Amino acid sequence: MQDTNWNDYALETQAIRAGHKRTHEDEHSLPIFATSSYVFASAEEAALRFTGQKPGNIYSRFTNPTVNAFQERLALMEKGERCLAFASGMAAIMAVGMGLLKAGDHVVCSRGVFGNTVLMFQNYFGKFGVETDFVDLIDCSAWEAAIKPNTRFLFLETPSNPLIEIADISELADIAHKHDCLLIVDNCFCTPVLQKPLELGADIVVHSATKYIDGQGRCVGGAVVASNDIIEKSIYPYLRTGGATMSPFNAWVFLSGLETLSIRMKAHCDSAFELAKWLEQQAGIAKVHYPGLQSHAQHELALRQQSHFGGIVSFELSGGKEHAWKLINATEMLSITANLGDVKTTITHPATTTHGRLSPEVRAAAGIQDGLVRISVGLEDIEDIKKDILRGL
Ligand SMILES: *Cc1c(COP(=O)(O)O)cnc(C)c1O
Repeated sequence: MQDTNWNDYALETQAIRAGHKRTHEDEHSLPIFATSSYVFASAEEAALRFTGQKPGNIYSRFTNPTVNAFQERLALMEKGERCLAFASGMAAIMAVGMGLLKAGDHVVCSRGVFGNTVLMFQNYFGKFGVETDFVDLIDCSAWEAAIKPNTRFLFLETPSNPLIEIADISELADIAHKHDCLLIVDNCFCTPVLQKPLELGADIVVHSATKYIDGQGRCVGGAVVASNDIIEKSIYPYLRTGGATMSPFNAWVFLSGLETLSIRMKAHCDSAFELAKWLEQQAGIAKVHYPGLQSHAQHELALRQQSHFGGIVSFELSGGKEHAWKLINATEMLSITANLGDVKTTITHPATTTHGRLSPEVRAAAGIQDGLVRISVGLEDIEDIKKDILRGL
């Protein structure tokens, strides 16, 4: 089993079996290696491991068998050469920036990314002389027009949050490469089960493992997947020095999350699609945003690029914020929380929570109306979910 070439296996099999190097104890389930350091047979061996001339564990800030297993498994599933795990999704994004950028560099980022990603580029990388321009996710000509001679990478999330817009990864990869830039995709919403950005031409995938990879809302974690070359030159040295490491316990939770990821994603997608179709027929709803619907502007692209349409649905109530809050407050079962990707269905009012720090003008430009409600569809019975939404409609 140690010598299995997991590349020959399907994602579902990799997700369950890859990454575990069984120890001399013959355990069936992967252990949590709760150790900060490792012992060496001799001073000579210690020196060889520290210089990297001899492979092996050194110190758990950057080498831990449980974390390694998670990294190996996720790399295979994303069809990447290497994966590095981080303490959170934001730590992974931070690592990409720290590893690749220097003062004077420029980044192009889509407007619809996670709020803290905007703050990371604008406030923190900005503080050290990296300039970021934000563009409309689905406007390829805007991406190309924003590229400057000092642009290092393009960064996007697809589908976007909370409007579920879809970017053409292949086309943006071509644009990036034509201008000598890298394309980075935050694949948190789709996971490798629904979409493999590296196969579509992206250079780096980042993850918040906190969402669907955990799947049950327990741990915070993140990951970067890329070629050996990018990881070795730019990301690993930063992880080793910067130290935003994933703990072995969290890696162990995420490993079991990966084992059920495929079957969970399919169930999330089926329920979300059903909910979206049902919402379209309810009175008081002005628009439903879901790529599975014919009414979605990038329905064809979603069909081409993703294997399913995803577990997140958002919709606009004609009655604005008042009706949105009324609907949220009338629910009995759904969790009122900004988290997503959980087996529990969550309901959010983006305009006053996740996107509340944006000015009303910026929010309007981003298309986030006051009547918008986002639902991360969980795995409860779909009829119970509908019933809970119906209470406040
Ligand atoms: C949650 C989230 C992040 C940040 O991840 P954390 O694990 O919370 O740090 C990044 N990108 C997307 C799309 C997210 O949803």
